[in-house]
Amino acid sequence: MAEKERLIKTFKCTNCGSNRRVVREVADEEVAKGKFGEDLPVGSHQNLIAIFDPRKPCISCPVLMVIRDICAECGTEYVCEVRRTIGQPQAMMPPGALGGQPKHRDFPFSTG
Ligand SMILES: [Zn+2]
Repeated sequence: MAEKERLIKTFKCTNCGSNRRVVREVADEEVAKGKFGEDLPVGSHQNLIAIFDPRKPCISCPVLMVIRDICAECGTEYVCEVRRTIGQPQAMMPPGALGGQPKHRDFPFSTG
C-alpha cells in the first residue's frame, strides 16, 4: 500500500470509560514477547469502509478501519479505534457492484 496506515481516533469504553481492552491486552502480551510488531490493529471486530464515488473511475480511495474491542473492565464491546489507509475500491466491492448485474449464489433450497 502506498499510504501508511495511520491511527486517526481512539475512544474509551462508552460504558465505564476504561481504555483496557481484552483483545488488545492479549496482543500486547505477544508484542512484549517480540512475536508481534508494535501497533498491530487488533480487536473483536474490524470493519473496512471504503469511501469513494462508484459513479467515477477511481484507482484508490480512503479506507477507514473501524476496530471494536471488548472492555476488560465491564465487557462492553465498543468502537475503540479508527484507522485510515488507502485501498482499491474494486477490492472492497462485491461482484457486480460497479455496474452490471450482481451475481447471486445458487441456494439448494427455495426462499420463496
Ligand atoms: Zn467498560
